[in-house]
Amino acid sequence: MELQFLGTGAGQPSKSRNVSSLVLKLLDEINEVWMFDCGEGTQRQILETTIKPRKVKRIFITHLHGDHIFGLPGFLASRAFQANEEQTDLDVYGPVGIRSYILSSLRLSGARLPYRIHFHEFDETNLGKIMETDKFVVYAEKLDHTIFCIGYRVMQKDLEGTLDAEALKAAGVPFGPLFGKVKSGQDVVLEDGRKIIAKDYISAPKKGKIITILGDTRKTDASIRLGLGADILVHESTYGTKDEPLARKHGHSTNMQAAQIAKAASAKKLLLNHISARFLGRECRQLEKDAQTIFENTHMVKDLEEVSL
Ligand SMILES: [Zn+2]
Repeated sequence: MELQFLGTGAGQPSKSRNVSSLVLKLLDEINEVWMFDCGEGTQRQILETTIKPRKVKRIFITHLHGDHIFGLPGFLASRAFQANEEQTDLDVYGPVGIRSYILSSLRLSGARLPYRIHFHEFDETNLGKIMETDKFVVYAEKLDHTIFCIGYRVMQKDLEGTLDAEALKAAGVPFGPLFGKVKSGQDVVLEDGRKIIAKDYISAPKKGKIITILGDTRKTDASIRLGLGADILVHESTYGTKDEPLARKHGHSTNMQAAQIAKAASAKKLLLNHISARFLGRECRQLEKDAQTIFENTHMVKDLEEVSL
């Protein structure tokens, strides 16, 4: 499982940072890639990666500001060209309005998709658990921005323990139905009367990962709830150390506030994104350092950077 940042800039693209988009690569887990926001130029950023657009099966949109959605029509139209027999449907999650935005842009530009888009639109009344499969569950809460904005908490379900087949073979269990029984957790009795205790041959379940991806927001308790115990918390950092009043005025956060959220949530790692073009290399490192005084495991991400979980 990896997170890859396609655009880490705020508001408008700069030479070093494109506008918002990131992907959660779940290829080993479920052979899917999930995209979060899709600012203009996202499809060009993807060309610099190994991501195959047809593997993008779910797109989660945080809010309807242009720097988070203007890349959608282009990406969706190009995706249609990049696969044929493996063409698959797509699920889009986002604020009410995302459906009409996508469908109008596609219709007015004469784009016809060979796949279907399933829309899941949210407002203040239907957030909470928004998606569940056998391996993942996603929760969403409203953040505090200038327009309705959603934060997402992706939880991988705990992984079952794996069977130690070698040890089982060594214990004299013949390959076949008995193996299957032990694997499913049942104790079995062998022909010679020995009892095989299943849990001795199955490793402990592995805790699923938690990845929290927030949209644009002021410092808010919703972010703490969404980020509780997260392996990775992605938080915007539009403003700098001393800019709290400005951040509040414009519906954003500072690097320090993001760090306070990560600390309060007992997250394991904080990744700062949505960085203003005003901040260049050295200033970015300083913002990161300042935030580390509050939450040590803080890192400010760059475009195309990949983080493994
Ligand atoms: Zn915004």
